[in-house]
Amino acid sequence: EVYADYAATTPVDRDILKNIIDNADEFGNPSSIHKAGKRAKAQLEKARRQTAALLNASASEIIFTSGATEANNMAIRGVIGRRDRPHVITTEVEHASVLNTFKALEADAEVTYVPADERGVVDMAALKRALREDTALVSIMLVNNETGVMQPIYEIREMLSGSDALLHVDAVQAFGHMTVDVEDFGVDLLSLSAHKLYGPKGVGLLYKSKDVHLDPVITGGSQERDARGGTENTMWIQAMAAAMQKASDEMTRRSIREMQLKELLLNTLTSAEIPFQVNGDVNQSASHIINLYFPWTDAEFLLTALDMAGICLSAGSACHAGTLEPSHVLSSMYGETDRSTKSIRFSFSYMMTDEEIERIAEALGDIYERLMN
Ligand code: PLP
Repeated sequence: EVYADYAATTPVDRDILKNIIDNADEFGNPSSIHKAGKRAKAQLEKARRQTAALLNASASEIIFTSGATEANNMAIRGVIGRRDRPHVITTEVEHASVLNTFKALEADAEVTYVPADERGVVDMAALKRALREDTALVSIMLVNNETGVMQPIYEIREMLSGSDALLHVDAVQAFGHMTVDVEDFGVDLLSLSAHKLYGPKGVGLLYKSKDVHLDPVITGGSQERDARGGTENTMWIQAMAAAMQKASDEMTRRSIREMQLKELLLNTLTSAEIPFQVNGDVNQSASHIINLYFPWTDAEFLLTALDMAGICLSAGSACHAGTLEPSHVLSSMYGETDRSTKSIRFSFSYMMTDEEIERIAEALGDIYERLMN
């Protein structure tokens, strides 16, 4: 089997997993005041300092969550909940965890959805037009999970300078592939997930600048400085910190390899004369994701045929993979064309081999030939 769906999720790093199991004796509740609790608390706070340092944040600005979906909900609901029907802005190409959260809050906030252009980049003129004096929040992803296209974070920050709007960034697909520095970006809120960077599923974090106040979404005990009730998942939090550390330490090596794999795929498909077009601007995309339009067949058919050939790929967001609706990202970029139903996302890992890429290209070539004859 060839798996090329690493933007959907990655395997857990075995060394990190082993380390966690070796430390499993330390099982205390970080809120307990006895020694076992204090040791667990120390572990938790060590992980918090480590993740904070990797983002150039302070430890007090990190809130651990059950993943990026929760972190995104925490940021968006937390800002909107404190205000009286505020004006907020997001883009049409966000992940479902952002988009559907705003949709669910349309009675509580006035939401403007900004489209992306054909490069996959948010329409900056439309963003500028949308921005108002009373805009409370702008939520924009750093790297798109379907196309890999990076949003111009510095230009967006610049546009917001002088405005009171908070900037929330979903950086799930960025960390480990590029430097994520909250100070340098000038963001107020930033979401991450461990399972996209060889950590476990079900753990993530929200960076929240110390100047920002949010309404808590998960109420309960006073964990996470009252921001999120519930006993902290100390084991997985430590695993996330270790995975982030490793992803950061190995970032250059990993992303160079991912870019090589991406280029190899494009070159192999071109020399095999399999017709395709790249969706979005390949020069503005993260190292590990490429989205290709195959005008000669439907993505649904192609994905099934590839799956039968032992190739695991997806059309974009895994959350929609079961139904395979037209991609909302590609529809925003290109309008209602067949690109939205005839495109596939390839997402790479530094662990992949050249042979795996060749097998993907071969399988695509076989399917193309069968359809043409
Ligand atoms: N945001 C983006 C851009 C994603 O790709 C994902 C992936 O699923 C998420 C958010 C949700 O993360 P999680 O699975 O940790 O809830």
